[in-house]
Amino acid sequence: MPLRRDKPYIWTTWITKLLSGDNSCEWAAQFKSLHESKSYSKVSTGFDSAKWQIEHTDLLNKIRTELEKKGQTIYTENQNYFNLHGKSATLSGKPDLVTINGNAGTIIDAKTGEESASHMIQLLIYMYALPKALPQYGNIKFEGKIIYSNNEVFIPSDAINESFTEKLVKLIKRITSETPASKIPSSQECKFCNITSLDCPERIEQDEHPIASSTDDF
Ligand code: SF4
Repeated sequence: MPLRRDKPYIWTTWITKLLSGDNSCEWAAQFKSLHESKSYSKVSTGFDSAKWQIEHTDLLNKIRTELEKKGQTIYTENQNYFNLHGKSATLSGKPDLVTINGNAGTIIDAKTGEESASHMIQLLIYMYALPKALPQYGNIKFEGKIIYSNNEVFIPSDAINESFTEKLVKLIKRITSETPASKIPSSQECKFCNITSLDCPERIEQDEHPIASSTDDF
């Protein structure tokens, strides 16, 4: 039986695809936010975390070395871990790198995969949360940068506006409330979701929709 958390908790990447519109099942984020992670079993999603970790660390070290050559002051991963405590929930995350220059800062995330709108949302959440959560960044105005293997995406500081903040706060309130969130099973989302059918009986397993043998006229 999954154990309830004392207070709802959200890890940033649980909500980025909901905010970008790539995912629709808010119930998955609500379940994780309300229950202790160690208290329920999980499906292996086939994600090769060891391979990802090695590639990500390689890219991160490369970026860090370049920044050090430029003489920048850099704060790395665990130094940037934050818990932003709200009235009803705690929002948590760990930006890869932070550089500070006076009252201006850059939050950098290294990504080894394809470009995605959810990566931008992740950076926007960090830009919103870091100055509020960590006193050493209280007066810093942050911009964001996503660095892929062969591309960079820049996010200006004014991207944190009222509209974004309102959408973020509303989503957090929805998924941390006692009102059940929308559960929207689909093979596309369920295959990347690690909640088992014990906790989500509506889960769609991959062989439930076999490919039709006939083809259409187009
Ligand atoms: S298994 Fe599918 S329906 Fe169930 S919570 Fe995950 S994404 Fe939603």
